[in-house]
Amino acid sequence: MKKKNPTKRIALCGCMMQEPSVIEKIQKSYSFVDLIFGTHNIFKFAELLYTMYSSDRMVIDIWKDTDQIVEDLPVERKYPFKSGINIMFGCNNFCSYCIVPYVRGRERSRNPKDIIREIEQLVAEGVVEVMLLGQNVNSYGKNLEEPMTFAELLQEIEKIEGLERIRFMTSHPKDLSDDLIQVMKNSKKICKHLHLPLQSGSTRILKEMNRRYTKEQYLALAKKIREEIPDISLTTDIIVGFPGETPEDVEETISVVKEVQYDNAFTFIYSKRTGTPAAAMENQVPEDVVKEGFDKLLKVVQDTARSRVGRMQGQVHSALVEELNEHDSSLVTGRLSNNTIVHFPGDASLIGKIVDVKLTECHGFYYTGEMI
Ligand code: SF4
Repeated sequence: MKKKNPTKRIALCGCMMQEPSVIEKIQKSYSFVDLIFGTHNIFKFAELLYTMYSSDRMVIDIWKDTDQIVEDLPVERKYPFKSGINIMFGCNNFCSYCIVPYVRGRERSRNPKDIIREIEQLVAEGVVEVMLLGQNVNSYGKNLEEPMTFAELLQEIEKIEGLERIRFMTSHPKDLSDDLIQVMKNSKKICKHLHLPLQSGSTRILKEMNRRYTKEQYLALAKKIREEIPDISLTTDIIVGFPGETPEDVEETISVVKEVQYDNAFTFIYSKRTGTPAAAMENQVPEDVVKEGFDKLLKVVQDTARSRVGRMQGQVHSALVEELNEHDSSLVTGRLSNNTIVHFPGDASLIGKIVDVKLTECHGFYYTGEMI
């Protein structure tokens, strides 16, 4: 591309650039790259561009870590009616398979006033749903000058007039408090959906993963959440093929899926992240064994998800209309509070609105319905 268009510039940024071995490789094999920066200095992008255009060499600016949070960066948003909001950056957990703490640095929470101000501004511009984002939102606020819990932050956000829906992601099971469950239960705006990554149902593997909960503790937490908020949908992430995992461990995971009855589970095959403790473990699982366990788990995940989603047949729920249906433009696609998708007759004027929809037919993981 650069040969064809000599004025083209190539910049690389983000997590992978925080890894010294990646930078070495780019310098050696891809010398045509013009600019490299990492995760901590994105706010310097304009300055870096200027440096790049003033230089005829590869410009590299990687910060090892930062304790700064830079507010008010310009953003271009994908949807006018919903938006993601970072409430914290980094992670302190060091799960043994994960590179995030090394490339994103330690946990830093944004000041609640800045978060509220940003959401108020978004609502004034037409946003009705926000997704609060962090690697582990349940430990929000611990490092603030005036500490505040995530449950307290949610209560403040709930007060914002004009905001209709609040979602958040991701919750580490070890940090999910009773207060949060109560706030969710009593809220009119927090969506009835909780993503609670399991990763493995085997206590032995969970220990190797450094997740700091056991199978039993996870199950007790899921049970408590379902008892307090019966109509909540629970989703999860699961890794298959972590070093040392046996078919018996996969069976443990399957038993958790059956017991918790997830509305959906994102299943991943373990992949080595250079620089993490798990990558150096010698007992990596052969590919065919991983594949067998993965397929077995996936079948159970799909079966349970289908029956969970099917429970709402015939009910009326409010849906936020997100877009015209990709395949049939006489339909629109909406999302229920519990994250289930429904397609129903409608036009572009409904996009961004919350409407009541009767769920007439379940098609496995989604519904078709009609507006009432
Ligand atoms: S998996 Fe999540 S909680 Fe664990 S280290 Fe990575 S980002 Fe942190």
